[in-house]
Amino acid sequence: MQTPTTLYLDHAASTPLRAEARAAMQPFLGEAFANASSLYASARESRKAIEDAREHIASAVGARPEEVVFTGSGTEADNLALKGAAWHAREQGRDGIVMGATEHEAVAKTAEWLGRTGFRVCVVPVDGEGVVRLDALRDAVDERTALVSVMWANNEVGTVQPVGDIAAIARGAGALFHTDAVQALRYVPVDASLADLTAVSAHKVGGPKGVGALVVRRGVKIQPLIHGGGQERGLRSSTYNVAGIAGFGAAVTAAAAERAALVPRIEALRDRLQAALCERIPGVHVNGSGAPRLAGHVNVTIDGVEGEPLILLLDAAGLAASSGSACTSGSTEPSHVLVAMGVPRARATGALRLSLGPETSDGDVGRALDAVAAAVARLRR
Ligand code: PLP
Repeated sequence: MQTPTTLYLDHAASTPLRAEARAAMQPFLGEAFANASSLYASARESRKAIEDAREHIASAVGARPEEVVFTGSGTEADNLALKGAAWHAREQGRDGIVMGATEHEAVAKTAEWLGRTGFRVCVVPVDGEGVVRLDALRDAVDERTALVSVMWANNEVGTVQPVGDIAAIARGAGALFHTDAVQALRYVPVDASLADLTAVSAHKVGGPKGVGALVVRRGVKIQPLIHGGGQERGLRSSTYNVAGIAGFGAAVTAAAAERAALVPRIEALRDRLQAALCERIPGVHVNGSGAPRLAGHVNVTIDGVEGEPLILLLDAAGLAASSGSACTSGSTEPSHVLVAMGVPRARATGALRLSLGPETSDGDVGRALDAVAAAVARLRR
């Protein structure tokens, strides 16, 4: 349980539930419990909340409401995109999957699994800032490529990809383009019309955990992962998580409304924290600062310091931080993202990711700096 004194700088892992989302969820956690697929009045109330949320999410990402398919998470949305597109494309004679080297495990492990079931998987390298090499991408796609999958923004370092250029290369080969916009949604005006498939998740934007969506551009054909009652146009059966979906819609709308003011404020705090870390602690290397980057991310490696003991010491000092992806923290494997960016393997085990959010204050930057400096000094003793 987070104590009141904890300084939370791990917004890339998850975000606090915002008030608008909590309020939108409240009725559906109590009396308004009806199954949204039923026919009576209370069910119609649940159904309306779902359709309102669908409209809110569609409008926030430049999509049509009927293109939004609700899922149980961002991970599920990525799985639906990759497996659903691959299975459909195989029937059309396409069996290639091309992805960036720094994809989240929700994409990378899914592609790996598809590779074991007969698909050809090609991993495209990134440059030193984590940007996909477009020349290599052009060489990797061909007339048998089913799907190109490159994330909008990276979860560990925050690098934002040139999504429009990547989409053009995929389309030039007649392939579908999927983008994981889970991290981007809070800080970047995501335009889902650039891609065929766009994955988003509620809990990264102040919504609840356990709800996501895949935006499936009109006319794009994919196979479902989950069969059953035929909800979501047959693409995602199961009784609706009405409260979760209502919270997701409210969170996305609030996040979009605050973005223009939030980004420069958070970016300024992040830049101050980054500069101060470099100035105060010898041997700090910033990863991914030379390319467009999400406003809240700073990822550093520190000479002579391992990631995990550093995170544990910071935790003891009341600072919640991460050594990279939340899903891989606790592992001593070097970050595949940093390795792909050319960071030496020995250093890539020692990353520290601090990710700021709307409630991060000026004073938090100083507190974080003191905590990291003290922990590093202790580990170097
Ligand atoms: N994709 C990216 C880039 C992420 O950062 C995450 C979560 O860390 C996911 C996908 C998975 O989303 P969810 O936690 O909703 O399954």
